[in-house]
Amino acid sequence: MTAGALAADLRTGAATSRDLTTRALDAAEASPLGAFLTVDREGALAAADAADAELSDGRDRGPLHGLPIAVKDNLCTRGLRTTCASRFLEGWVPPYDATVVTRLRAAGAVIVGKTNMDEFAMGSSNENSAFGPVRHPVDPERVPGGSSGGSAVAVAAGIVPLALGSDTGGSVRQPASLCGVVGLRPTYGRVSRSGLIAFASSLDQVGPVAADVAGAAALYDVVAGPDPLDSTCSDRPPAHASTAAATPGDAPVRVGLPAQYLEGLSGEARGVLDAALDVPGFEVVGVELPHTEYAVAAYYVLASAEASSNLARFDGIRYGRRVQRPGATLEDVYVESRTAGFGAEVQRRIMLGTFALSAGYYDAYYGKAERARRAVTADFEAAFAGVDVIASLTSPTTAFPLGARTADPLAMYLSDVFTIPASLAGLPSISVPVGVDGDGLPWGLQLTAPAFAEAPLFAAAARVEAAR
Ligand code: GLN
Repeated sequence: MTAGALAADLRTGAATSRDLTTRALDAAEASPLGAFLTVDREGALAAADAADAELSDGRDRGPLHGLPIAVKDNLCTRGLRTTCASRFLEGWVPPYDATVVTRLRAAGAVIVGKTNMDEFAMGSSNENSAFGPVRHPVDPERVPGGSSGGSAVAVAAGIVPLALGSDTGGSVRQPASLCGVVGLRPTYGRVSRSGLIAFASSLDQVGPVAADVAGAAALYDVVAGPDPLDSTCSDRPPAHASTAAATPGDAPVRVGLPAQYLEGLSGEARGVLDAALDVPGFEVVGVELPHTEYAVAAYYVLASAEASSNLARFDGIRYGRRVQRPGATLEDVYVESRTAGFGAEVQRRIMLGTFALSAGYYDAYYGKAERARRAVTADFEAAFAGVDVIASLTSPTTAFPLGARTADPLAMYLSDVFTIPASLAGLPSISVPVGVDGDGLPWGLQLTAPAFAEAPLFAAAARVEAAR
């Protein structure tokens, strides 16, 4: 069920937005996979009826008009509960829409609900949600990846053709890979983060999840571009990704395969990677990203440091859950609210980040991680002197069993080895499905491009998709 096919049905009269929306709402409510935290039947049907009325009046808002879409629960939706999958924000209803949500509504998209995620987007398996895990659509005993697992499953299970996620260190790409859908992390500064609940502000980006490359491009085109409400958002006008995805051509593309990403890959994984890059016009060459080995460690220091600062606002006074027993001091309220409101992984990150930023250790941890980040970024700059895109698998494995990595945070963190470097460097990076393993579990190919080169990135992704 692609966005393009459904959009065509709306225009031929084969379906109405109310039909598509009702089907999505019913599927979201009936699904046992835990992909949704909130389903907004009333709001969605009203939006669908408005979309239908406009289409029959000849007012067409474009490719997303009337299409059901799911939104990750760390994006503010006015009047609709937004929890970040945390007890802390359990009953919180935002008074405003995130800019990307405003743009979805203006494009005529129909928001059917909010998707489950790892609490505050911290995780790679969706097991860190305070409201229960998301399950993999192929095998419910496996994880869908994280932290945008609900968005990936909502698309992979055919509930909606499109969803929004967020990617700090891989949270759009890795679940897209594990679930067999397309997911893009845009260039840092390409998509507004106004109304995205912050995790790590030097890394967070909102990105599209879709059943195919064209759908991801259509959604990207709607959300990308300058926003006066986000000062980190670039003023550069975005190139039209849908056009690039629809007319990718067959000009030669120089594809760099980093030697460092091939170390330790299983034979099966290597075979999948080579087959995925067997695309007419692709010229695969080796490249070096020599500081790759420092990326995961640097990311977990930097992201945790920023999280410890961003999450300081959840103090039990201004937002969300407050624990206040008689006689409690202000300090008690802070401690007890945060103890009750945050799950174990969020607490671990806050402690890790606070430690890394503490006066005596700042240079040893935070400063060193910043230097590693600069080295990783410089590696990409050097590599892109000779190639157009850099390719790898998105994740070193397919979907793993629930519980397999929860006891070992380091094993969980290593799920992100291939996605984290592009995040540190602020580069656009896309995951495209490229087949399944012996158990029917999807593999994803990751393509990464220079900053603001989303249009050629989408074109390359479309060629990978077409070659299959
Ligand atoms: N899995 C990574 C983490 O736990 C990335 C999360 C994300 O991109 N939001 O931090």
